[in-house]
Amino acid sequence: MSKVYLTGAGPGDIELLTMKAHRVITEADVIIYDRLANPEILEMAKDGCKFVYVGKEDGRHTLPQDEINEVIYQNALKHNVVVRLKGGDPFVFGRGGEEGAYLKERNVSFEIIPGVTSAISVPAYAGIPVTHRGVAVSFRVVTGHESPNKESSQIPWKNFKTDDTIIFLMGLHNLKKITSKLMEIGKPTHYPCAVISRGTTKDQSVVVGTLADIVKKAKGVPTPALIIVGKVVELREQLQWFKEN
Ligand code: SAH
Repeated sequence: MSKVYLTGAGPGDIELLTMKAHRVITEADVIIYDRLANPEILEMAKDGCKFVYVGKEDGRHTLPQDEINEVIYQNALKHNVVVRLKGGDPFVFGRGGEEGAYLKERNVSFEIIPGVTSAISVPAYAGIPVTHRGVAVSFRVVTGHESPNKESSQIPWKNFKTDDTIIFLMGLHNLKKITSKLMEIGKPTHYPCAVISRGTTKDQSVVVGTLADIVKKAKGVPTPALIIVGKVVELREQLQWFKEN
């Protein structure tokens, strides 16, 4: 009986892979993967393991999601151990839910293997805690892919005024629109903000600024990158620990 493992690969640092993810990767007959922050993970696979790339970059799909679902399903008909490997956690902007539902409808058994999400771990490697006593009691993780100017936005921008920490994934190309929108709803122009690129890898780079100047400062920063907004960003001065370029 075949099984599909919807597996989180973590944010990049190979040691942030879970033991369970490591086990299924070594057992896999086929690994269906996206662009990964660390392709070295694939080297853990056994001899003869098949690799299928269905990559997505910053929300632009090289394969539409319904085709990815079908690729997973077809592989499950042919192979016993199918690993669907995704960056970070499969349920944090990973569309793992859609893949699981597609398999369930077709009576293919699956397991979810959560991963270390970039949303929390990438700030951590930049010395930025997403919550901190006396500074932030909550954090929000938001898609930055949707343009804030979109008429029918599903994002409750107005609620962000009182939020402590806001983390935007997939938002680098919308950085200007996101920061403008946050200032428009009433966040101060000097509010702290950072862009963290290729976090947890040897190429990690961090740009710290304010809502008003981050666009200029972060020009040309490579993807993948996330945006973190909030007073916690200032804690980096005390907590930076990871060696950066
Ligand atoms: N499921 C993933 C997120 C998928 S969305 C997770 O849980 O981490 C992809 C976005 O995640 C990227 O556009 C970027 O904003 C962020 N991201 C992923 N890996 C990253 C990394 N190593 N450094 C910075 N941002 C990263």
